[in-house]
Amino acid sequence: MIPLKTFVSEHRAANLLAQVRWRDGVYCPRCRGESAILYGSYRMFQRYRCKNCDRTFNGKTGTVFEHSSVALRKWFLAVYAYVRFILSDKSS
Ligand SMILES: [Zn+2]
Repeated sequence: MIPLKTFVSEHRAANLLAQVRWRDGVYCPRCRGESAILYGSYRMFQRYRCKNCDRTFNGKTGTVFEHSSVALRKWFLAVYAYVRFILSDKSS
């Protein structure tokens, strides 16, 4: 069960994305290198710098959310509502 606060706070939404995406550890979405260092932040997102290719990235880089102007928490609410209400309705 995803807490409702996820859909209110962009910070919590960013944390949830990071938890899911980096569950096996942080890697560079550009070169797949696995040695990245903390490198400040981008809005609500932790920013990293890849030691291999020297480029920076954050939790949204390389995901469908990267270039969206819609806040991540709103995406999560839409996805959650879809899974919770639309999909569950079809199975019954
Ligand atoms: Zn890299």
